[in-house]
Amino acid sequence: MNNTVAWEYPWLQNVLESLKRSHQGSALAHAYILGGTRGLGKKQIALEIAAFLTCVKPSTEGPCGACKSCQLNATANHPDVLYLAPKEPGKALTVDQIRRLSDYVHVSSHAGGARVAVLAEADKMNSSASNALLKTLEEPHESTYLFLVTDSPGLLSPTIRSRCQRLTLPTPSLEVSLAWMRTGKGNEFDEQHAISCLKASGGSPLLAMEMLLDESLPNRQALEREFIACLTGKSTPESLLAALSKSEPVTAIEQILSTTALCAKLMLLSTTEANDTSSDSGGLAPSPIWSQFIDRVNMSDAEENARRRALLGNRLVRLYDEIEKARRQLYSPSNPNSKLLLESLCWLTSRALK
Ligand SMILES: [Zn+2]
Repeated sequence: MNNTVAWEYPWLQNVLESLKRSHQGSALAHAYILGGTRGLGKKQIALEIAAFLTCVKPSTEGPCGACKSCQLNATANHPDVLYLAPKEPGKALTVDQIRRLSDYVHVSSHAGGARVAVLAEADKMNSSASNALLKTLEEPHESTYLFLVTDSPGLLSPTIRSRCQRLTLPTPSLEVSLAWMRTGKGNEFDEQHAISCLKASGGSPLLAMEMLLDESLPNRQALEREFIACLTGKSTPESLLAALSKSEPVTAIEQILSTTALCAKLMLLSTTEANDTSSDSGGLAPSPIWSQFIDRVNMSDAEENARRRALLGNRLVRLYDEIEKARRQLYSPSNPNSKLLLESLCWLTSRALK
């Protein structure tokens, strides 16, 4: 039995299996980018693989959970596993942290086996950190593996991306997510409420679970409604700013970023695909955001539909880029004024589809 959890996430099994097979066939890449929506277990899978690679007696199920290495991993103390993340929420990964990683890969293994480094929120590297990482990636060391974990692989520099193998975690179906949510300790919940949390989380079971436990769903839904109202001209930028100001700036920006991404994605799909999103989001119809949005942008004229979808979709992509830029500024060391950033985003949102 192992102490780690990703083996219990049914939607990750295929990815874990494929990584294990690569390892058994000596075909594991030196560096991976683990991508996919927030709340799918990317960090957990990276730590699982680290535990598997350093375990003395791994089984087909995963790490043994009993050997010295597994015990050290269970307390996050394994000398051959390095885990790096921004020091505080909303902060960047610094060049000093990446230098620590570079030094680490040059030291030989304590236990004589693999060495693994996990870089969480890898897209939050500032440019000097990113350049430092590139040097490390250019000189791979035998039996040393690097996992870059990120919700937004597109924000990593193209040269970093070109030196890593990409793995995107799949979003599970509604049934799989609900079944998993029911298996947790003392997880008794109203099924409709759980479904609402899954919809609001874009189908990510871990994020949905977090929303169920911290009861943040009403706040998130209120912010989404306000954002869509501002986007479609039914409300003012001031009103959106008031809604955004109820959360931490980073949380607020990340939430409107994911709402914009969802709207843009659905807008740019063909009409048939948008009406039947089952193939893309595991049977999760993206209401209520999508239906509110589609009602308000008046898509009734069939002939104009395709042209209008493309136009609005592209405008949403541009808005996404602006929100993303603001998010990056928040993470930059220059310490920007978050109120001014949010104000400017509200104004951009109100103008985005005009
Ligand atoms: Zn073990």
